[in-house]
Amino acid sequence: MKTPLTAPPVLELENVSVLYSIRQGLFGARKPLTAVNEVSLSLARGEVLGVVGESGCGKSTLARILLGLEAPTTGRVTVDGEPIGAQNRRLLARRIQPIFQDPYSSLNPRKSIRDIVSLPLRVHRIGDSASQEKAVRDILDVVGLPSRVLNSYPNQMSGGQRQRVAIARALIMRPEIVICDEPTSALDVSVQSQILNLLADLRREFGLTYLFISHNLAVVEHLATRVAVMYLGRIVEEAPVDELFEQPRHPYTKALLASVLTPDPSLGIPETDLGAAYPNPIDPPSGCHFHPRCAQVMERCSRVAPRPLIADGRRIECHLYDTGGAAPGLPGSSLPKSNPAKSNPAKSNPAENASPHGAAAT
Ligand code: SF4
Repeated sequence: MKTPLTAPPVLELENVSVLYSIRQGLFGARKPLTAVNEVSLSLARGEVLGVVGESGCGKSTLARILLGLEAPTTGRVTVDGEPIGAQNRRLLARRIQPIFQDPYSSLNPRKSIRDIVSLPLRVHRIGDSASQEKAVRDILDVVGLPSRVLNSYPNQMSGGQRQRVAIARALIMRPEIVICDEPTSALDVSVQSQILNLLADLRREFGLTYLFISHNLAVVEHLATRVAVMYLGRIVEEAPVDELFEQPRHPYTKALLASVLTPDPSLGIPETDLGAAYPNPIDPPSGCHFHPRCAQVMERCSRVAPRPLIADGRRIECHLYDTGGAAPGLPGSSLPKSNPAKSNPAKSNPAENASPHGAAAT
């Protein structure tokens, strides 16, 4: 059983939103698109926070913010309590490194593996050429690549080897935090497990902290200590990994878990109950953004956005669990373990006319 750590947060997001202005068609008017909508997350030192959701839910925008590649429109991102924007860019890059989704395009095809892996050391002027050469050989050994690949080029390597090169490049400066953005989704299934095992080993060996973004729940379950489920820019459920997989509460989390293929082909393609297609983020549904696809939708869901409920180390945004009691985040707002709506149909709530996160993505 993987137990989430209780160490102080090393990386924190507070009410972070990212808005883009998108033009629809050549002469169309610009419309706002909320890619990330008032997201609050914290990452404790040594833990693995998995962020899961469908394509277009804002996961990769979140990764770019955490890497300091993009500034949030509103909200605050801090590393060890210091705003990320106020930190020295070079020092930040030494502490936080990315591993991207596609090892085919994230490596420069014109550079040798030696040049690619040693680049961070040369950019940051760490050591002389002899010590850089030793560091490159050492890190290639750590990620399971022989030193004979030093003079090879990316197109001479397999997908798994290229991702190992990308991991070596990310780790050569011994970062504290690694942002993994779908690091295995471009790889064959057999290679995926090798890379996941490698990432788990490296975490233990170097005491790394991971933010692990994936659309694949099985991948997240393998590696994460805590999971945040994202839908249309918002975190709709967050819980320790064992609790989320054993007792999912949000209807979207349940649908995602139900959609995982079983190893038995005779069981066919699972029924997800997700019905309607993923909504257009430029024109998101009113109230709870998930309501057109929700199997447990209630009358008020299309009118009122659910408020965040936080208790027992879990967080959820769903009217099914909002008994209208204590304010969210305060003692006493304990989440009911069962689904109260089954025995307690939608009822009038004085908070219904207030939207806790506004007219999101409008
Ligand atoms: Fe479904 Fe309503 Fe909960 Fe949204 S708030 S997930 S529509 S039950």
